[in-house]
Amino acid sequence: MLRVENLCVGYGDAMALTDISFEIGDGELVAIVGPNGAGKTTLVNAIARFLPVRSGTISLQGESIVRLTPQQLSALGVAIIPEGRRLFASMTVEENLELGCYRPDVRRHRRDGLETTYAMFPILCERRHQIAGTLSGGQQQMVAFARALMARPRLLLIDEPSLGLAPVIIKQVFDVIAQINATGVSILLIEQNATKALDVAQRAYVLDCGQVVATGTPQDLRNRPEIGAAYLGHG
Ligand code: ATP
Repeated sequence: MLRVENLCVGYGDAMALTDISFEIGDGELVAIVGPNGAGKTTLVNAIARFLPVRSGTISLQGESIVRLTPQQLSALGVAIIPEGRRLFASMTVEENLELGCYRPDVRRHRRDGLETTYAMFPILCERRHQIAGTLSGGQQQMVAFARALMARPRLLLIDEPSLGLAPVIIKQVFDVIAQINATGVSILLIEQNATKALDVAQRAYVLDCGQVVATGTPQDLRNRPEIGAAYLGHG
């Protein structure tokens, strides 16, 4: 589905990502974990085409996407759930969801999209006329997920979905991620909460100081004491 090879991205003279390579297979849920400042958000923003690539390649189903705009990428079936959710706080839940299907090809399926989305998130159906900014943090995160799903993505990029949420809500968010993946959507999950991310991912990459320092299945990574101590909170 997605292949990143030898990717380098920087801000001015400072390199934030150096020689990053990884891939996501069709239908796979891959996590990128790592500490604060590791380069996780930079990586997702480069893939989403918000940041220019210094060198290396990013390809989607074999075709390079490094020269595409975010809009063109969206037309290829890639949706992003950004860090901090970025809802339109003064608009209703349903108006936010409508913004997920602005493209004519998905707009045609608007009614079906809303029906499927409300079946998955019944609380959003109940609250569909409520102003999004008045929802709880967890419900706002659900709106961000639902809005992305309205675009009928094949690949979903999810940046730090657990940020600022209570543990019980975080569990619900990760359950939703697993549920979306079970419908066949490929997922790149960027997450500082490595323990939670490894619970749902099929494979993971550990990023530190802009480089991939480890990769494997969640079980492989948990079994490596040096990775556990440095990145998974295994003291
Ligand atoms: P966090 O979890 O804190 O968001 P992260 O793993 O997502 O961390 P990034 O935000 O991608 O990390 O940051 C990677 C590096 O790039 C850091 O050294 C950061 O200071 C730097 N950086 C991020 N954004 C910018 C920017 N707009 N201008 C300059 N440097 C930046």
